[in-house]
Amino acid sequence: MAVSDHVDLATFIEGVRRRNPGQPEFAQAVQEVAEDIYDYMQDKEQYHKYQILRRIAEPDRVISFRVCWEDDNGNIRVQRGWRVQNNNSIGPYKGGIRFHPSVTESVLKFLAFEQTFKNALTGLPMGGGKGGANFNPKGKSDNEVMRFCQSFMNELYRYIGADIDVPAGDIGVGGREIGYMFGQYKRLTNEFTGVLTGKGLEYGGSLIRTEATGYGAVYFLRNMLATQKDGVEGKKVVISGSGNVATHAAEKINQLGGKVLTLSDSEGYIYDPAGISEERVNWVKDLKNKRRGRISEYAKEFKGSEFVSGKTPWGVPCDLALPCATQNELTGDDARLLVQNGCIGVSEGANMPTTLEGVHVFKDAQILFAPGKAANAGGVSVSGLEMSQNSARISWKEAELQRLLEDIMAGIHASCVEYGGRPGSKVTDYVRGANIAGFKKVADAMLAFGVV
Ligand code: NDP
Repeated sequence: MAVSDHVDLATFIEGVRRRNPGQPEFAQAVQEVAEDIYDYMQDKEQYHKYQILRRIAEPDRVISFRVCWEDDNGNIRVQRGWRVQNNNSIGPYKGGIRFHPSVTESVLKFLAFEQTFKNALTGLPMGGGKGGANFNPKGKSDNEVMRFCQSFMNELYRYIGADIDVPAGDIGVGGREIGYMFGQYKRLTNEFTGVLTGKGLEYGGSLIRTEATGYGAVYFLRNMLATQKDGVEGKKVVISGSGNVATHAAEKINQLGGKVLTLSDSEGYIYDPAGISEERVNWVKDLKNKRRGRISEYAKEFKGSEFVSGKTPWGVPCDLALPCATQNELTGDDARLLVQNGCIGVSEGANMPTTLEGVHVFKDAQILFAPGKAANAGGVSVSGLEMSQNSARISWKEAELQRLLEDIMAGIHASCVEYGGRPGSKVTDYVRGANIAGFKKVADAMLAFGVV
């Protein structure tokens, strides 16, 4: 037996930090998972012996490359691109591409690590990966975005493939960017294959992929509330972000009879006491996707609403909260404020939006708290279904896909309940449940492969 891996949790985390200097987001994500897995592994010698957690926390590979492009004024611009292929034990690497100035290797390694567990939870055969670049699409012309995407794909195409690694969208990468990247992949390889998901419906995309992450996060919330014999109807809901995930979460909350009070972007949040109705959500979608505007414009358009500059929305009293913008946007203090104001449920549409301190506040208060790896898995689930449709060269109908999405979210919820029970607690520890259920599936596949 390899006793060398029998280090305690603190020593394990210390090792992760030492081996990954200057990568705090990655260390944070590993710590959150390790806190639960260490406890679970106590009596499971084989996971220690084969150093499974240590191996999952070491990406299979990290590819980094230069991306050169020319802006509209003829200046040559240089960005850095990455693809992190974390683990392909249960299927091809799968995970989004993020274009945002805050992208670093640490951020992408944390996202690829999280994605490994999330994809396992869906029950579909997908490994974990993530990619992106420190490119800011905001304020760029369509032609500039196209040239950047083409240059990015000129390098990325060597490492991806329908059975190897299948990227999708994420922050800053929506239908337009996926179209440009797919076009370039096809040109470089002369192959029409399901190498990206989130594609347009005309060229192999799946119905409800765009809606799936936001809808899924609300379905998960509904499942959690149902365990307390409660529901979304009549609830006041605070949402952050105003992109793909936030607007579709808001849409579904409206459909289920809840009242959405806020949306936000990196400049501040809007508060609408009348409720951000489905019609107003559609206005925001148009603002963001077509006019590429800022959320502050909402307050000018809709009387009675206000824009609060430079702040996040967590101080607005609510029953339910959905952080749907970015990592670490909800701190320990924000979490305390939410709990004090009577919030009973939080579902993470974004990836790791709550800091470790915030997660502990929610756990200690025993409110319903769904971590992103469970709550936002709807997007990658429908991506998985897009891969199946591409392989079979068919397109499923919307009603069928809706049913599958709801089933998958219910399945993830059930897995969390199975592994997340806490003696003496009236609510499931969904963080623990998601971590253990995701880990077990990947770990058992790794054991079958031996030491590779
Ligand atoms: P979008 O680019 O569509 O929207 C992102 C939103 O978050 C924008 O409102 C943006 O505001 C805001 N935001 C981004 N960075 C920051 C920041 N540093 N501070 C404050 N606000 C910020 O992205 P998505 O909606 O697709 O993604 C949102 C989150 O959901 C991410 O964490 C992503 O990883 C996660 N996710 C997305 C999935 C998908 O299917 N799209 C699947 C699973 C998870 P601004 O315009 O000012 O930047």
